Amino acid sequence: MLGTHRSAADATQVHEHYLKGTVFCGQCGSRLIVCNAKSSQGTIYPYFVCASRHGGRGDCTRQAMLIEQVERLIERFYAKVQIDPETIEAVSAMIHARFDEMMAEGAAELADLASRRAQLGGEQQKLLQAHYAGAIPLDLLKREQDRITASLETIEYRITAHHGHYADARENLEDSLSLLSNAADIYERADDPNRRLLNQALFKTIYIDEDNDVRVGYHNPYDGLSIPGLHADALSWAAKAKKMGQTDPATKGGPLVASSHLTRLG
Ligand SMILES: [Zn+2]
Repeated sequence: MLGTHRSAADATQVHEHYLKGTVFCGQCGSRLIVCNAKSSQGTIYPYFVCASRHGGRGDCTRQAMLIEQVERLIERFYAKVQIDPETIEAVSAMIHARFDEMMAEGAAELADLASRRAQLGGEQQKLLQAHYAGAIPLDLLKREQDRITASLETIEYRITAHHGHYADARENLEDSLSLLSNAADIYERADDPNRRLLNQALFKTIYIDEDNDVRVGYHNPYDGLSIPGLHADALSWAAKAKKMGQTDPATKGGPLVASSHLTRLG
């Protein structure tokens, strides 16, 4: 009975372990919580145990895991998280080329918006001239000008958003790829609080399986960027691009777009 109380007290002592809240039972999906076991020599071993099993709920049979061992498993898993430079470059080039295609597809809409903007500007001029000529009373002029100004603002917003959207997306892509290209090195050198931050940035969940396999649920956009199929696609895309000289091949499902100036940004 005393033992039960002690382990509860010890658990609260180390409850700030940097993996807490990030690691989950691979068998039932419950959180892993910290418990301490004391050997007959009095040495204390901190363990992760499945919260569901520990609380006597459900029928999970996951064995307790030494915390130190879980730490090592995750350190080793980071070798799989880190993407090699060649693949990073290929993924970056391919996705930037896709952005180029998407922007080109939006170009027609942008042209429409620009000509609508010019048209509204013309209407504004005519309206003023009509007012000065005494053909339009002031209140009507004001109403019409408000209408035109509102339309122009909407158009400006959409044009700016179109450019901003892709600029942000490209910047996010580069930031994310930069992290994935160094993840293992960063994690290895990081102190506990920074390890916690890195884990939280990359993963929704880290499952520790019975056979000590580590499975993770990535956060967006790391989930998409970590799909092995994407890496293979990007490498073959890049190989094709190289074969074709300076011309980029079309990415899947899109037209060929000259984009070398953008793909070199990464
Ligand atoms: Zn469990």
